[in-house]
Amino acid sequence: MSRFINVAVPLPMRKLFTYAVPADCAVQPGSRVIVPFGSKTYTGIVVEVDVSSRSDAKPIVELLDDAVPAITASLLELTRWMADYYLCSWGEALAAALPRELAPQSVVRARLLRFPPSEELSSMQRRAPKRAQLLELLAQHAEPVSVGFLQQQLQTESITAQLEALERSGYIELTSQLEGAHTPRTERFVALADVLRTNPGHLEHVLEELEHRAPKQARALSALAEAAAVSPIVSWHQARTICGVGENVLRALLQKGYLQVHHVPSEMKSVGTELSLAPSQRETDLPLTDEQAHAVSRINEALSVGRAKTFLLHGVTGSGKTLVYMHAITTVLAAGKTALVLVPEISLTPQLIDRFTAAFGTTVVAFHSRMNAGERYHAWRAIRDGRARVVLGPRSAVFAPLDQLGIIIVDEEHESSYKQESPAPRYHGRDAAIMRGHIEHAVVVLGSATPSLESMYNASTGKYHLLELATRADGAQLPIIRTVNLIEERKQQRMTGRFSKTLLDAIIERLRRKEGVMLLHNRRGFAPRLECPECGHVPHCLQCSVALTYHKRTNQLRCHYCGRSYPVPQHCPSCGNPTLLALGAGTQRIEDELDTLLKQNGTSAVIARVDTDATTTKDSLRRILYDFSHGRIDIIVGTQMIAKGLDIGRVTLVGVINADMQLYIPDFRASERTFQLLTQVAGRAGRRADKPGEVIIQTAHPEHVAIKCARLYRYDLFYSDELQERRDANYPPFTRVALVEFSGTDLEQVDRHAQAFAHYLPRGVAAITTLGPSRPSLDRIKGKYRRIVLVKGDRQLDPNGAELRRALLSAWAAYNEHYASQAVRMTIDMDTQSSL
Ligand SMILES: [Zn+2]
Ligand SMILES: [Zn+2]
Repeated sequence: MSRFINVAVPLPMRKLFTYAVPADCAVQPGSRVIVPFGSKTYTGIVVEVDVSSRSDAKPIVELLDDAVPAITASLLELTRWMADYYLCSWGEALAAALPRELAPQSVVRARLLRFPPSEELSSMQRRAPKRAQLLELLAQHAEPVSVGFLQQQLQTESITAQLEALERSGYIELTSQLEGAHTPRTERFVALADVLRTNPGHLEHVLEELEHRAPKQARALSALAEAAAVSPIVSWHQARTICGVGENVLRALLQKGYLQVHHVPSEMKSVGTELSLAPSQRETDLPLTDEQAHAVSRINEALSVGRAKTFLLHGVTGSGKTLVYMHAITTVLAAGKTALVLVPEISLTPQLIDRFTAAFGTTVVAFHSRMNAGERYHAWRAIRDGRARVVLGPRSAVFAPLDQLGIIIVDEEHESSYKQESPAPRYHGRDAAIMRGHIEHAVVVLGSATPSLESMYNASTGKYHLLELATRADGAQLPIIRTVNLIEERKQQRMTGRFSKTLLDAIIERLRRKEGVMLLHNRRGFAPRLECPECGHVPHCLQCSVALTYHKRTNQLRCHYCGRSYPVPQHCPSCGNPTLLALGAGTQRIEDELDTLLKQNGTSAVIARVDTDATTTKDSLRRILYDFSHGRIDIIVGTQMIAKGLDIGRVTLVGVINADMQLYIPDFRASERTFQLLTQVAGRAGRRADKPGEVIIQTAHPEHVAIKCARLYRYDLFYSDELQERRDANYPPFTRVALVEFSGTDLEQVDRHAQAFAHYLPRGVAAITTLGPSRPSLDRIKGKYRRIVLVKGDRQLDPNGAELRRALLSAWAAYNEHYASQAVRMTIDMDTQSSL
């Protein structure tokens, strides 16, 4: 007899597949199964059990989770919504929800933690001989061994259930890692076995017995028992020192079941405390301002009701939004629930990690992109097992398998990095968080000093609940913002290179007072292009339609889209002219110019650069920020990396070298992005009451609404002006925009496909408008031509987007039928963040 199950496989096919399992198989929705598919096998997720039988259903290869499914019920629901809304397959959404380490190409390894005492072992040999065999086999190996090896040794395929049972009873530990990935750094600790620790009489007895047959072991065990009074768990290395014996003696004690081994991931032991960026005082002990207290009480109220509710916390920079988050999380933890904190890019926010770790200790686990496979798996397990109760991470942490979720915080909710662009699911982390809150009856708090138009609009219609922090905490004042008109300054010859006299004087003044300076220049490299003064030739990437950026430090030309680098040509490749001019400026050039200018003015400074070129190693950003906050660095020159969330008290001057760089790119969010970036970076200055701040923005367009509103702290004015623009041009929040992209190496074919798709879109549907196909300004990336079609759905006529999705799906189906081809790739990006 068989049962039948429906499985979602990680392929872009929007359907489920039915498989057969034995009738007594403990399969549940959310379990991972290995299934045959064509000539291959995949790890799929069971999404439905006991579906109607199908005669052509193949049997599964293996059930991977027979005890606890890898995907929780609420994550099944979240990924299903994601597949529907973002038009991908359920399997693709599920694949994003699981750490890669749980996919089949990963290797599971087992290692022995404790060996059963002889009585227990013989009972096991009768009860569960396979388990006993496994333990005996593992006892012969000091290092973890792969499951494949164990299968081979025992000449059997199915040992998953036995291994999991052994792990549950604490005999072994299973770790998973990608083949080839480096091992997670862990340290080995030992402790007395529980039977000895809890029963002194038994310990006495064991020591007596050992005294006769193995006196060395007896001495070692007694030394460890004594030490255990002070520290119950000691490192392997310490244990050897304490006992004064060799490895073999400890290993013998381990084999007899008198000792237990713990493997502690090294990164879990007080990460980077020597470079901590957290304040010395416990933040949750600090008094709240009236505004903060009000926000906390509104959130607590919602938490006590236990129903889904979304807040938009609009707080000016330095108003202490993080403290509001911390208090709300304290409430959640006290109620026995868990918390999820999403941040835009976690590797850029070491300070936030430190602050949360200082406030909540070891219940915090942080996911970040620089974790290796093993570390990520450890973190995932800690969450799944309920050891980690506060999770901090980027958008993908929205899938953290937290149980009893009480609150989700989305910090800097306006950031575009919450949107996944590729691969599918192309989801928005903020919107997925709100949906997850809905599913799990959790409270969601979106925080920002510059809320996205969409979120503020949702707050104005009552969909979200608005909480405002209009003043800075601790009595600090918002910095005074001035604009310097680059055109005027140039006329009056007050410019040297990219620096106005106004900005330069302000910098020199801060150096004299030993205060910190941050300079924003949102372009890395030395010069954005080289140009031949004779013929005007500009070297471009061979693969992409962009000019190459000149990197002086490495003497290379680099493409910032595909990452390819090229040697710097000795003469113009077009006319042979021997000199090429480096035009425009990136952060490297700003750093060089400033250094020279300061020397010309009889002073000097320690300048550090913060961009993706300068902070490639794991702790380099943390090191720079630490030195800067302790006065060992005077000036930071950086890209938008420095605009996010930094709270460094000695910064009293923020300079923006050129505010216009993003202003006139042909994208509907250009103005909003400029306003947000300027407001955010300005907010880094003057965060302490005794050190007021100043911001100098250099611009050729001081009257542009984005720049003027940033200068005057008029979010409200910017919002109403920009909202009108969006209404007039039919852009979000009034419409949903889906960007359909076609790319391939054959331009003519790409064109034809884009036209065909546009043609298949339904006509005469009031809610739907189509733009294109059109040629985007970046029309070639990595050797592939691009064409785009924008499809907009009116939110008033089509409030939940069903019509828009229906239109896209029907065009897609017709297109697939006639045009499906490997040569042109088509993707749909629902709620695209940019129209480029
Ligand atoms: Zn390129
Ligand atoms: Zn030339």
